[in-house]
Amino acid sequence: MNESGTEALLVRILTNQPRLSGAACVGRSEVFDPAETGEDPDDVRYRHEVAASICRTCPALNSCRDWAETERASGSVIAERARYTRRKAASIQQPVLF
Ligand code: SF4
Repeated sequence: MNESGTEALLVRILTNQPRLSGAACVGRSEVFDPAETGEDPDDVRYRHEVAASICRTCPALNSCRDWAETERASGSVIAERARYTRRKAASIQQPVLF
């Protein structure tokens, strides 16, 4: 890819991305990530509760919440909530409530 192509790609990727200065989740993806195939639902709930507690200390929470409303359900915890697709919610059986 030439430089202008790279630049155009970066502009496309980064446009409208939130500024999440001080994001408390940096380096903590292991607790924010979606459930892995076969992962014990209790373990998922525990991880996601830990993630939500991290979000509650995050200086970027309000900006992140605004951005999260525009995102599709991924099963990750974003802005102290985990949003699941219907299929994933059914496999977890008990929704994560914060
Ligand atoms: S609110 Fe949570 S998901 Fe959003 S930036 Fe902060 S720690 Fe990360």
